[in-house]
Amino acid sequence: TDLAHIRNFSIVAHIDHGKSTLADRLIQETGTVKDRDMKEQLLDSMDIERERGITIKANTVRIDYTADNGEQYVLNLIDTPGHVDFAYEVSRSMRAVEGSLLVVDSTQGVEAQTLANVYQAIDADHDIVPVLNKIDLPASDCDRVAEQIEDVIGIDASEAIQVSAKTGQGIHETLEAIVTHLPAPKGNLDAPLKAMLVDSWYDAYLGVIVLVRIMDGTLKKGMRVKFMSNNTLHHVDRVGVFRPEMEMVDSLGPGEIGFLTASIKQVRDTRVGDTITNDRNGAEIALDGFKPAQPVVFCGLFPVDSSEFEDLRDAIDKLALNDASFSFEMETSAALGFGFRCGFLGLLHLEVIRDRIEREYDIELITTAPSVIYHVFMKDGEMIELHNPADMPDPSKVDHIEEPRIKATILVPDEFLGDVLKLCQDRRGIQMDLTYAGSRAMVVYDLPLNEVVFDFYDRLKSVTKGYASFDYQMTGYTEDALVKMSVLVNDEPVDALSTMVHRDRAEMRGRAMCEKLKDLIPRHMFKIPIQAAIGGKVIARETLSALRKDVTAKCYGGDATRKRKLLDKQKAGKKKMRQFGKVDIPQEAFISALKMD
Ligand code: GDP
Ligand code: MG
Repeated sequence: TDLAHIRNFSIVAHIDHGKSTLADRLIQETGTVKDRDMKEQLLDSMDIERERGITIKANTVRIDYTADNGEQYVLNLIDTPGHVDFAYEVSRSMRAVEGSLLVVDSTQGVEAQTLANVYQAIDADHDIVPVLNKIDLPASDCDRVAEQIEDVIGIDASEAIQVSAKTGQGIHETLEAIVTHLPAPKGNLDAPLKAMLVDSWYDAYLGVIVLVRIMDGTLKKGMRVKFMSNNTLHHVDRVGVFRPEMEMVDSLGPGEIGFLTASIKQVRDTRVGDTITNDRNGAEIALDGFKPAQPVVFCGLFPVDSSEFEDLRDAIDKLALNDASFSFEMETSAALGFGFRCGFLGLLHLEVIRDRIEREYDIELITTAPSVIYHVFMKDGEMIELHNPADMPDPSKVDHIEEPRIKATILVPDEFLGDVLKLCQDRRGIQMDLTYAGSRAMVVYDLPLNEVVFDFYDRLKSVTKGYASFDYQMTGYTEDALVKMSVLVNDEPVDALSTMVHRDRAEMRGRAMCEKLKDLIPRHMFKIPIQAAIGGKVIARETLSALRKDVTAKCYGGDATRKRKLLDKQKAGKKKMRQFGKVDIPQEAFISALKMD
């Protein structure tokens, strides 16, 4: 296809504003997929994505479109994830296209992720077509939302297209706008091959599939290519496009988006942002790479049943093949045995991986408290990156500790503003900015990441009845008065419950945690002290009183079946607990004990 007849674009939107539904309609309207093969949210392929209605992996589709001017166009859509944890995926796919549709739900208006995503599009120099979706709903207010797009984002919304991705109204206008308002890609057919590695994932049949955007030259089946970041050579055995299923083609030229396979075994062997060129006389200067995704949240994953450790290792290895942003290393815990310390891009990422292990590999897990990476500066000048509070060095040798902070942007209706400010304040936040757009406030806070990773989303949602939206970016590390708080159950330290806390909050946290644990740990035949401590100093204490009677003692003599049933129940329950010294701690305790409310 000649460049003038190609349009490459992505769709940016806040979650639930209708991005996937709109993509479906564009695919359907152009006959890319026959009506009878159409199922909802075609591009959301993973089960978990469908269930939660979120898009995790960016997906791509090539659409043929005959415009009103009679010309044939090729439209390449890259669908991007909408969630904050996956911002890096958005940024990488933005670089592969020239324009964006900005979808805003006309019953809701601009939200935090609308802003975060549209700024990425602006940074990538995109031309942007605003689309007001859900106009079939009575609450739709296009004028108000168009005005808000101009006020808050600062782009012209006078020609915003009014769409219902549900009924199909406005879809034709959207396709025409893509062709007329978005620019054609540029590129040089005669130059050496220069292809951008946009994404890669593992396919059970084809091995690693590499999504590429051709900048210059031609990518052909059978050719040898070089990955410039590490100078590895590969023989290209397939070249193709997504419609959205894979379709093989002989070659891809400048401006085109498609995939190659080259007998690559692991996703880890491909670097997103890399430049692919000819093995000889190739391009000399690589494209600007993207920054690799860095895990920011760490936690331990342990099998409930310790005999499943090898199965867990296997599951984690497999998942990591397809997700280079997920890191892991083996960990042993006095209390939990063998497991893995894993790094994630954020809490949703953590949940997705944990769910997939439990669901697809059928392994029950104990998840320890999530932690961020602390920079621990030792008196001898050394700096240690602390991923696990249990590894905190002797405090007498520590000079100071720095923690990561974020800039959080929250959009919220006026009436909930007070609660949001209080929540941020309680989490050691510093207010940076507060502005209004219509009846909604936009507040910007500087917050410690460790106060956010645990249950901030949940709390924010609950204090605003779900009306607030939230986005953040990391800003850097700053020093603060941080200490390691340990928890002792029956005088035994439980390393999986240690956390880093701010000194001023340690006592309150410690007290809350001991109270929670007192409720979560079942009573035993003996008295159990539960303590929180900093170093050797106990800062909070609760006592779980002893159980007086055996559960089965109630069933006098006769009813043996009932007695057996009760014992079986106890046994089943036991499997989900972990023994700490003489005490059984249920699995939920590890997460629940740390929630603050
Ligand atoms: P995404 O998170 O941006 O991909 O949003 P989805 O495409 O998953 O849509 C979120 C929800 O809004 C789904 O329940 C859709 O069925 C619904 N939806 C999307 N577009 C429209 C629309 O134009 N009208 C109505 N009434 N509902 C819509
Ligand atoms: Mg979606």
